[in-house]
Amino acid sequence: MLELISQMDTLHLAGLLPVELVDFVSTLGQPRYRASQIFRSIHARRIMSFEDITDLPKEFRAKLSERATVATLRSESRYRSSDGTRRYLFKTHDNFPVETVFIPEERRDTICFSSQSGCPLQCTFCLTAQLGLLRNLTAGEIVEQIIVALNDAYGVGNETPRGTNLVGMGAGEPFLNFDNLMKAIRIMKEPAGLHIVPNRVTVSTAGVVPRIRELATIADRPHLAISLAAPNDELRNELMPINKKWPLKDLLSACKGFEKSLRAGERFTFEYVMLDGVNDSDEHARQLANLLNRHELRAKVNLIPHNSAEPLPYQPSPMQRVKDFRSILESKGVHTFIRQPRGRDILAACGQLAARGDASNAGLLELSNRRPERRIA
Ligand code: SF4
Repeated sequence: MLELISQMDTLHLAGLLPVELVDFVSTLGQPRYRASQIFRSIHARRIMSFEDITDLPKEFRAKLSERATVATLRSESRYRSSDGTRRYLFKTHDNFPVETVFIPEERRDTICFSSQSGCPLQCTFCLTAQLGLLRNLTAGEIVEQIIVALNDAYGVGNETPRGTNLVGMGAGEPFLNFDNLMKAIRIMKEPAGLHIVPNRVTVSTAGVVPRIRELATIADRPHLAISLAAPNDELRNELMPINKKWPLKDLLSACKGFEKSLRAGERFTFEYVMLDGVNDSDEHARQLANLLNRHELRAKVNLIPHNSAEPLPYQPSPMQRVKDFRSILESKGVHTFIRQPRGRDILAACGQLAARGDASNAGLLELSNRRPERRIA
């Protein structure tokens, strides 16, 4: 379905597949090569206004501006962490907050994008949960986050020197916005555009079982990460209430099905946020190893020390505890990594993304002002 962004039937062209662009330009009486020109301009040259697509005739640009737009996200603020991580707060055309994080890395930079404004799930260790669901993002809004972050990091249209990895681990539960997510991934993989192939994309879910099963049947798919956070139903019900709908037995059986569908080069991981004194005991580690072994799951586990953010009641597990937890998992044959948090000082780390307040105020600025951040725009 084409993306109409307002009552005036304005189309968001960043959210159109090449074939949809062809249909659109034909309604304006233009040949199909115009669609290729527009697609390349938006996604490969990362031009965000019709005015700057100067290889299109002026009259055609004027016509385009009447019917469509390239950019819909309004940049509210950007922050840069002491570790180089950048956090962006955007507002959608209808004033909902969207957050994106750019993480520079030695080998390949990573962009963490949001799939929803807010999130309907109520994970108790996540600040985004406090917003509730504001709305699903469109495919165009997902793609646009990547374009803006790349332009900011490298300059408009400049090559990305180290390539780009994408992670769908920002605000929202991506599998509750599955169609738009998968469409955005299809748009971004186009060789004539951003050319970020699904093999460079990882999507994390809190455990939407039907979509995990669906992803197992899709050929051209991103890597999958499952956020576990607890090794038993009792604790997981408390930390991730989605577990009441799809308990561990159902989740891990869907995971086993997915693991069976893996092809060479595909990655499948579990994420385990480490909350001091809550889910990080030796007994929890043994339960987790037994759970994965019982389901014959070979996937690796990433341990993520929690990122504290007021008013969440949790603290990160001390590093020694994280290491001891890893040793127990490893001793039971579970491959385990410790993930280093990035961008904590600007509230850009996992679970810290949240525009405080309702969608109509600039809540994040209020939130940001409470912390020693370096605002760069
Ligand atoms: S951890 Fe993810 S799924 Fe859970 S509330 Fe936060 S954004 Fe939503």
